[in-house]
Amino acid sequence: MAGYLLRNCAAVIVDDGAGSAVHRNVDLLTEGPAVVAIGEGLGRGDLPAGTIVQDATGWFVYPGLVNTHHHFFQCFVRNRADLDWTKLSVIEWLDRIYPVFSRLTEDCFYHSSVTAMAEMIKHGCTTAFDHQYNFPRHAGKRLVDRQFEAAELLGMRFHAGRGGNTLPKSEGSTIPDEMLETTDEFIADCARLIDTYHDTGRFSMRQVVVAPCQPVNCYRETFVESVALARDRGVQMHTHVGEGESAVIESRHGMRTVDYLEELGFAGPDAFYAHCWELTHGELRTMAASGTGVSHCPEPVYLVGAEVTDIPAMSAFGLRVGLGCDGAASNDNSNLMHCIRSAYMLQCLAASSRVHPVPSPADFLGYATMGGAALLGRRDIGRLAPGMAADLFAIDTRRMDYVGTRHDPLSLIAKVGIGMPTDMTMINGRIVWQKGGFAGLDEAQLFAEAEAALATIEF
Ligand SMILES: [Zn+2]
Repeated sequence: MAGYLLRNCAAVIVDDGAGSAVHRNVDLLTEGPAVVAIGEGLGRGDLPAGTIVQDATGWFVYPGLVNTHHHFFQCFVRNRADLDWTKLSVIEWLDRIYPVFSRLTEDCFYHSSVTAMAEMIKHGCTTAFDHQYNFPRHAGKRLVDRQFEAAELLGMRFHAGRGGNTLPKSEGSTIPDEMLETTDEFIADCARLIDTYHDTGRFSMRQVVVAPCQPVNCYRETFVESVALARDRGVQMHTHVGEGESAVIESRHGMRTVDYLEELGFAGPDAFYAHCWELTHGELRTMAASGTGVSHCPEPVYLVGAEVTDIPAMSAFGLRVGLGCDGAASNDNSNLMHCIRSAYMLQCLAASSRVHPVPSPADFLGYATMGGAALLGRRDIGRLAPGMAADLFAIDTRRMDYVGTRHDPLSLIAKVGIGMPTDMTMINGRIVWQKGGFAGLDEAQLFAEAEAALATIEF
């Protein structure tokens, strides 16, 4: 596989392991799936045979974004007035939305995954993690398999979180019976997916994460068995934590969620939790000590009206932090670029009530790139340097939108925001999106197929 020479980039965000730096007026050379050189005048020397030269004048080139929390299937319940968080209690909201979730078909899971990942790629995301916890009995067990198929279609690097719920409503969960599995069923399917898809090689495009949905909707044994499987196979673990359930967990188990999961072993450098907005500083220190990471999803904080997640404390305590869109039921888009800005602004809003200072705008870009890569256990993505994966996106800054902003590319996304799709997104050395089109795909056809699948669901 030949590579690309991005010639005369206005700026490239480079990180050789010592922190991000802006390199001006340089070329970036890729070969196969990797970046091989970043520097001045690369095009003047001999290029590997077959290298395609791409004029990058005016482009700011960033490392590809890494999304660390989503529920792709929820793309089929977007923009609905009858699911307005400001008018419904959590219980009312669940009672309305779970019957819809439980009607989704295997095709819906496939096309909602294409829908989410297409939007992510347009906005600079090159690695997607999805938390697929919805397995209605009638839809069968091949839902994550279909997600891998969708990722392959678009050329996206994909980490599949195999979720699941085991505790019935009669014992205190919120999950309809037709979406429940036994712990054995859940663990067996996780093991099958790991055997079939999990690739630990350099520049891997497919990995599997063991991800029981949340402690309130699962038996204790589900988490115990998840830890045993994940540690045996060397895969990451993920779940929802600190989003309002801590008091319920305390009433059931005599301790809040963070201590409960620490005791079960569902914590450590191979574990990351979504949300964590209701955690105390003591709990954040516990997570920092065990190396457990956080996927911060800012947009649900706005929509659901929860407490503002204490990112300054997480940063001060040395927690690993990544960013996530979250599912479309609590964030109606799949635009991680947008989340970088909303995450930063949310912390500015809460700054006066904080003990610790708000991290810099550039730090928020770091959460969405290096931070996400670290949560997923990846050392080969998340930054641009020779030897790293050629996962990147480019913004042509020769537009009125960017007048007066170009002196600080590191802060641009969090401070100013990017209000349009990228000019180019490259994943694993392949251009998957450029000039408003997906490589080798007809967006009108993808759109029609997704709408047709959506039309089969009764609301
Ligand atoms: Zn979630």
